[in-house]
Amino acid sequence: MIQLHNVFLSYQKEVTALHGINLHVPRGEFVFLTGPSGAGKSTLLRLLYAALSPTRGQVVIDGQNVTRMTRSQIPYLRRSIGVVFQDFKLLPNRTVLENVAITLEVLGWSKQDINKKVFHILKQMGLEHKINATPLRLSGGEQQRVALARALVNDPKILLADEPTGNLDEENKDLILNIFRDANIRGTTVVVATHDRRLIEHSHKRVVTLEKGKIVEGPDVTQ
Ligand code: ADP
Ligand code: ADP
Repeated sequence: MIQLHNVFLSYQKEVTALHGINLHVPRGEFVFLTGPSGAGKSTLLRLLYAALSPTRGQVVIDGQNVTRMTRSQIPYLRRSIGVVFQDFKLLPNRTVLENVAITLEVLGWSKQDINKKVFHILKQMGLEHKINATPLRLSGGEQQRVALARALVNDPKILLADEPTGNLDEENKDLILNIFRDANIRGTTVVVATHDRRLIEHSHKRVVTLEKGKIVEGPDVTQ
């Protein structure tokens, strides 16, 4: 589902964030990406949703070579990828319902189907009583669940999350981990970048550790 072949990424000449990354994440796998701050975790995720293009090497997502994609092809790729950003990126003046509905509006769903699907996922996330609230009136854990609902509402092939449990308490962390697990069981390939050792240890999933832009632990078993 995700393949990186000898990927290098330099922001400027002096900052090489990734050095020769080889990584294969098969369809349906759940992988944690960990390592110290500045190791390249966010950069690697940005490559996966084509916010960045590698300086060298190839990035292949769901059989498509992202490196060779034109700008106009990228939105189509992103329709099959749910992304949860560290700062959530929720629209502050829209309700919870509207924030989650956006994903399906872009896909051209009917209003009736959108409402049905959004209610369903918000109920799963324990947020049905907050559908008409705006994000700023929600707790951090609730905002995170809205961001997850928005990323998962169209059952994406891939879910990417950057530090999804950053400021959450243990109860909310468990909730989030369960949401990832459920999505993964339904077939979504999951890649989560995190510092959170406890989250990783509880999950019993593959862990890929980055240090200074290189994979130092958890390389592909086939290599
Ligand atoms: P992590 O997510 O593991 O903390 P990042 O991928 O954010 O690591 O950063 C990897 C390296 O790239 C760091 O040296 C960081 O300072 C640098 N970096 C990240 N984003 C940018 C950027 N937009 N411009 C320049 N350098 C960046
Ligand atoms: P994370 O640590 O979760 O990856 P960020 O991606 O926001 O968080 O930033 C990671 C590192 O990259 C930080 O050290 C930050 O200072 C650096 N960085 C982010 N954006 C830039 C930028 N535009 N120019 C230089 N460094 C950046």
